[in-house]
Amino acid sequence: MIYNEEFETLPREAIEALQLKRLQQVVSRVYHTVGFYRKAFDSAGVTPDDVQSLDDLKKLPFTVKQDLRDNYPFGLFSVPMSNIVRLHASSGTTGKPTVVGYTKRDIDTWATLMARSFAAAGLTKNDVIHNSYGYGLFTGGLGAHYGAEKLGASVIPMSGGSTKKQILLLQDFGPTAICCTPSYLLFLAEAGREMGVDMKSLRLRVGILGAEPWSDRMRDQIEKELDISALNIYGLSEVMGPGVSMECIEGRNGLHIYEDHFIAEIIDPKTGEVLPYGETGELVFTTITKEAFPLIRYRTKDITRLMPEVCKCGRTFMRMERISGRSDDMLIIRGVNVFPSQIESVIMDIEGLEPHYQLIVDREGSLDTLEIQVEVSEKVFSDEIRELQNLEKRIKKDVKDYLGVTAKVKLVEPKKLQRFEGKAQRVVDKRNI
Ligand code: ADP
Ligand code: ZN
Repeated sequence: MIYNEEFETLPREAIEALQLKRLQQVVSRVYHTVGFYRKAFDSAGVTPDDVQSLDDLKKLPFTVKQDLRDNYPFGLFSVPMSNIVRLHASSGTTGKPTVVGYTKRDIDTWATLMARSFAAAGLTKNDVIHNSYGYGLFTGGLGAHYGAEKLGASVIPMSGGSTKKQILLLQDFGPTAICCTPSYLLFLAEAGREMGVDMKSLRLRVGILGAEPWSDRMRDQIEKELDISALNIYGLSEVMGPGVSMECIEGRNGLHIYEDHFIAEIIDPKTGEVLPYGETGELVFTTITKEAFPLIRYRTKDITRLMPEVCKCGRTFMRMERISGRSDDMLIIRGVNVFPSQIESVIMDIEGLEPHYQLIVDREGSLDTLEIQVEVSEKVFSDEIRELQNLEKRIKKDVKDYLGVTAKVKLVEPKKLQRFEGKAQRVVDKRNI
C-alpha cells in the first residue's frame, strides 16, 4: 500500500515544481531567522532571490557537522524555543552531541514519513510492530514509535537491551515486524537459538532495519536465519531521524527518498562539485519543510548514488543505493580505499564464517595495517588446525583479489566478539591511541 499516494506517485515535473516552491520558502526563512545562514550566504555572495531554479541550489554554501557544533546547542533553530516541542541529540562519541529540535508540525511530518516507510514494507494497521530501536535522545526509538502509531499499527515500545525479554515478547506478543539495527537482529537471532527458540517459527514477517551500514550479503543471512524480509531504512538526526528514505518491499533495490520533504544531491567529497545521477559520491540533503531546524545542503558523509530509474512499486520518488559507508569510515590501507561493508561482503560469501567481525586498523612505521577478526561457526571451530589455516588463507586471498588490500586474518571462536545493541562498532582504530 502507498501511504500518501497523492505525493508518492507525483510525476517528476510536479515533484520538481513542489521542491522549488518549498526550497525558495525555506531559503528565505533561514536567511531572515538564522544568523549563521545569513552570514554564510553573505560571504558566498548569494541572496534568497538567487534561487530561481532547482539548479541554483548549488550556488548555496554547504552546512557541515562542525557548524552544528559551533552553534551548540540551539543556535541553528529558526523558531523560538516556545515553538519547539521535542529535542533529540546524536550519540556524539567525540566532543559535544549535535542537538536537533522539532515543532509540532515537524513531529507530525516525521510520523507521516515513518508511516509511509512502514507501508512501503507492506505493513498496515493490522500489524504489530516490535520496536527495538533505543528510546531516548537517539531518534530511532521515538521516530519509529510515532510512525507506527500514525499508521494505526500496534507498537511494542521495547527499546534496546534486555535480550531475554525481547525474545520472550517476540514469542508471546507475536509481532509481525521488528525495527532495530541489522547487527542487533542477528544478535537477537543468536540469543533466541541459544534459548532454544525456533526463530523461524515466530510470526515476524519483516524487519525495518537501519542506522548502520550493512551489505546485501548480511540481508541474505538475516532473511535466512529468521525467515523474514529484511528491508533497509535510512535517516540521520540532523535531517530528521529515521524515515528520510526507505526501501519498498516490491523493489527491494534502493531506498525511495521522500523528495517532497528533502532534496538530495550527490557531490564529489573532495571538490564539492555536484555529480550527475548515477555517480557515486557524498550524499547532501536540504530539508524543505522542516520548521524548527531547517538545513541547507547538509553534508552527510554517507557514500551512495542516486537511482532515477522508475521503480516497479509505483512510487516516483528517486531511490538511493544502499549506503556503502561513510567517507570518514573509509579505510586507506597502503593506499587502497576500502569500506568495512566491502569486507563484510567478502567475508559473508565464505562458508563457515559467522556474520560477526571486527576490523583492527593500526600503523607500523608509516604504513597502515588491517587485521580482520571474524568468528567461525561451531562446526568449523572443531575442525583440525589445518582446516582453519586453509580458511584463513582463503579469506586473505579473497580480500586481496576483490578489494586489492593485504590484510592479516584472525579467526575467532564462536561468540567471542563483542555484540552491540545499537549501532555496531566494526572498526577499532589503534592509530590514534
Ligand atoms: P548518531 O549521530 O548518534 O550516530 P544518527 O542516527 O543521526 O545518530 O546517525 C545517522 C547515520 O547513521 C547516517 O548518517 C548513516 O551514516 C548511518 N545510517 C543510518 N541509516 C543507515 C542505513 N540504512 N544504512 C547505512 N547507514 C545508515
Ligand atoms: Zn519502489
